[in-house]
Amino acid sequence: MKTPLKQIYQIRIPLPFRLNHVNSYLVQDGSFWSVIDPGLDTLVTEKSWVQTLHQLNVKPSDIRNIYITHFHPDHYGFAGKMQRWTGAEVNASGETYALAERYYSQGQSERNLHFYLKSGIPETLAQDVAELDSKLLHQISPITGTRVNLLEGDSIVLAGEPYEIVLGGGHAEGSVGFWNAERQALIGGDLLLQKITPNITYQYEEDEGNPLESYFATLNALERRMVRTVLPGHGPVFQPQTDYFESVIAHHKERLDHVLGIVHEAGSAGTTIYDISMRLFSKVFDNDNARFALGETAAHVRYLERQKLLRVQESGGKYSVFENVPY
Ligand SMILES: [Zn+2]
Repeated sequence: MKTPLKQIYQIRIPLPFRLNHVNSYLVQDGSFWSVIDPGLDTLVTEKSWVQTLHQLNVKPSDIRNIYITHFHPDHYGFAGKMQRWTGAEVNASGETYALAERYYSQGQSERNLHFYLKSGIPETLAQDVAELDSKLLHQISPITGTRVNLLEGDSIVLAGEPYEIVLGGGHAEGSVGFWNAERQALIGGDLLLQKITPNITYQYEEDEGNPLESYFATLNALERRMVRTVLPGHGPVFQPQTDYFESVIAHHKERLDHVLGIVHEAGSAGTTIYDISMRLFSKVFDNDNARFALGETAAHVRYLERQKLLRVQESGGKYSVFENVPY
């Protein structure tokens, strides 16, 4: 529960997913406390917090600030409830609030379903996955109290030390990391994870996004900071090896090559995002993972499309992906 940073505790909150926990951080500043990423809105989360606060002898009203690294349900979901329980201010990037509002609305389940269908997934599977999406809506409690906007370069105090607000993207746009320059330590949410690259997903919608490019930019910016210690959103505290950044980028470049190869094989007939994802993630393709597999595939297709190596055409209610060469 203790971390290498004094007065910053790592709290492992169980999750009902294959990724079975999320890390919250509880930070002491004298008699006041802050929480970073309170978890998903479930009874298990609530019980974990009651137990943790009891163990550390913290009263709910001692919690003055709730910080959210990004809008994903496992980090953001419990924030509203915790705010009503403690009276704390919620702090996140403006983009986090905006994305949460957009994604945690009924309209989004419908947009998701459209994307699944257009990606070429069988209709029954699309319905199943969309149903899982709408279930998730019940594990997010809206934030109704005071909201503070965190801006890039802002300085805050955690455990008596200054932290700079660092913004990043890719896994979730508007992600916030808390950077302790003196200790070269990052409380990073899912910006940097030890064993796995965070899931980089895209849904073909009207916006101009290119999350993989955004993630590469984030990695490059963080590499320049010479991060020595990461307090991540999942998994143990770690020290990135010297080739850490290089190998995360190499992992995605390999996947980009794999996608190019699959689309090349398909030739002039083209292929669908679903077919590509089945090849990329054949071992893990089930209902639970379908949304991640499709989103991850789409993010890589999108990157290659912007590089003008692939073409994506919508016709007959489906996206077809072609190699960008004249046949
Ligand atoms: Zn996460």
